[in-house]
Amino acid sequence: MKAVTYCGVGQVAIEDVPEPKIQQSGDAIVRVTRCAICGSDLHIYHGHIPGMVPGSVCGHEFTGVVEEVGPGVQAFRKGDRVVGTFHTACGHCPMCRKGAYNQCREYGVFGYGVAFGNLPGSQAEFIRVPYADVNLRAIPRELSDEKALFCGDILTTAYGAVRNAQLQPGETVAVIGCGPVGLMAIQSALAQGAARVLAIDLLRDRVELAERLGAVPIVASETNPVAQVNKLTGGLGADVVIEAVGGPKTVALAFELVRGGGRISAVGVTTAESFPFPLATSLTRDISFRIGLANIHRDIDATLALVAGGRIDPEVIISHRLPLTEAVEGYRLFDSREATKVVLIPGE
Ligand code: NAD
Ligand code: ZN
Repeated sequence: MKAVTYCGVGQVAIEDVPEPKIQQSGDAIVRVTRCAICGSDLHIYHGHIPGMVPGSVCGHEFTGVVEEVGPGVQAFRKGDRVVGTFHTACGHCPMCRKGAYNQCREYGVFGYGVAFGNLPGSQAEFIRVPYADVNLRAIPRELSDEKALFCGDILTTAYGAVRNAQLQPGETVAVIGCGPVGLMAIQSALAQGAARVLAIDLLRDRVELAERLGAVPIVASETNPVAQVNKLTGGLGADVVIEAVGGPKTVALAFELVRGGGRISAVGVTTAESFPFPLATSLTRDISFRIGLANIHRDIDATLALVAGGRIDPEVIISHRLPLTEAVEGYRLFDSREATKVVLIPGE
């Protein structure tokens, strides 16, 4: 089958690789109908994720049709339309039983190398999904594959970040980064009751897209975002700040934007081991800081319902739809930020 493989820093290729087979009784084989390139794939593309062996299949966002199930799979059968969770969980270990699926004993991320479970990725014609009863969701009849696709990752990541910030109805949220995750955070914050969302990015066109989704635009390359947020909040700062870029610089900015007693929730992926935490300031200003990997299984049923109910429209961020065989160009477009979000279509 055709698949997108990692070939070294800044290089992916379309290669013929063996089709996956059932290995465990809980596995399903899914024929991929849609997959996408995620900001997290760019960390691999830039060589920042250790343990990506050249030749391994990339990608972790996908929808598809169940092709085959192992004897232990109960919830799905051949022909079911499904969306996959980008990270896997076993569903029965002590962490899963606590609802901390992102801390599962068998945690893995599709297409993210040996450090993340060594699972071949979704930018391929077929994918093997372990613990399929846990790591797949049926796509509601009224939803197209493209509407359901982001529930497996960026939408639910963003929705969970807002939930982790304990947003109260009527509050003001600042979102740092208007890439796909940030744009989904804007929609999620509005769906969870934010009165206003202030959208910050360096790129004018991304901030303009945020504005079309109902946010107040702040172009950080043209204006000082701290001064702007202060002005818009009467000098208080934002009740909640969502960091959706990754790394110490934008986390530091979050501390400058949040009001006293406010909450910061960071989801940007970073490989920086440490950060100069403003300890005394956080003490006196009573700041809560939260960072973590997405817990897709906790929130995916809510995001699927919000999309099915028309409260969130994830499709608006798709700028390019390409055949899987044009993934090399897709990575180039997304990496250069010419594309907001690239969806790949196998079999075209
Ligand atoms: P992306 O790279 O497409 O978007 C990042 C955006 O941040 C871009 O629009 C960029 O212009 C903007 N940006 C960069 N520096 C900035 C700055 N100093 N100030 C303001 N804006 C700035 O990525 P994405 O797909 O939107 O994902 C965002 C982050 O979320 C990535 O780090 C990704 O790996 C991460 N992520 C985390 C999880 C998780 O489980 N925690 C899940 C999915 C994605
Ligand atoms: Zn992702």
